[in-house]
Amino acid sequence: MQDTLDGMPRKLFTCTPTRLDTWLSCPRKYRFTYLDRRQKGLPWAHNSVGSSVHNALRDWWSLPVDRRTPDSAEELVARGWLTDGFRDDGQSSEWCDRAAAMAASYVAGLDPVDEPAGVERTVATATHGMALSGRVDRIDRRRSDDGGDELVIVDYKTGRRTLDDDDAKSSLALAVYVVAARRTLRTRTRRVELHHLPSGTVAAHDHTEESLERHLGRAEAIAGEAAAADGAWRGGLSSRAEDAAQGDADAIEAIDAAFPPAPGPMCSWCDFRRHCPAGREVSTDLSPWDGLAG
Ligand code: SF4
Repeated sequence: MQDTLDGMPRKLFTCTPTRLDTWLSCPRKYRFTYLDRRQKGLPWAHNSVGSSVHNALRDWWSLPVDRRTPDSAEELVARGWLTDGFRDDGQSSEWCDRAAAMAASYVAGLDPVDEPAGVERTVATATHGMALSGRVDRIDRRRSDDGGDELVIVDYKTGRRTLDDDDAKSSLALAVYVVAARRTLRTRTRRVELHHLPSGTVAAHDHTEESLERHLGRAEAIAGEAAAADGAWRGGLSSRAEDAAQGDADAIEAIDAAFPPAPGPMCSWCDFRRHCPAGREVSTDLSPWDGLAG
């Protein structure tokens, strides 16, 4: 741990890649999510699909090997189906069937005896200023070219957009997981993969030491900004939140200076849109099921 000038150890900023991504995408959203804890809007149906499939794939690996079949994956999706956000029971049921088929098709391509090194495994690492941790969907153990063991970070995706190798390469979260998996599991790790279940495609990237260093440097820079804003919030800004909510212009200005809104196309999907005039101005009303593929 790095010491400060007065000799006292500096407190590490504890965070996840998601927290850093939230700061990067919109500091106001970051405040609403992690500090102000505003009430979110209605749950999204596409999140219900994603969570149901993720949970089923996690539980599939807990089954005895002879029950790790496509049928079991379908059953797990149906049994744990989350119904939030759908227009009605009919839409929910149709999507349950689609998600079950998607999970079954995906596991049909897996080897049930090839036990992963981790399933929804939490990995962690620390740098000069951050303590970073996150949960990885799956960590595979594979044989590398030189015959040794190598870990691969696998992230499941269930959204509409097909992903490419650049998505895998540019993902801060995946790069952080590589570094954290190395530290937690003490095994060589460099490859990251995005498994897009709806299309059955895999986007991948093999990180180098340089690319990991770049990602970690970027993570540290983002964490530095977020930590400074957190400090300002705890150091007095939080006490002005009530005034800001009542329309006090000075309080609003002070809070926005530390946590500026970043309105853009993603505002339509923001869980805190109803608390955010700047976001509402540039976005449109969506129904909770609008994120489902057609
Ligand atoms: S609506 Fe847009 S600007 Fe407002 S908090 Fe959400 S992402 Fe940020």
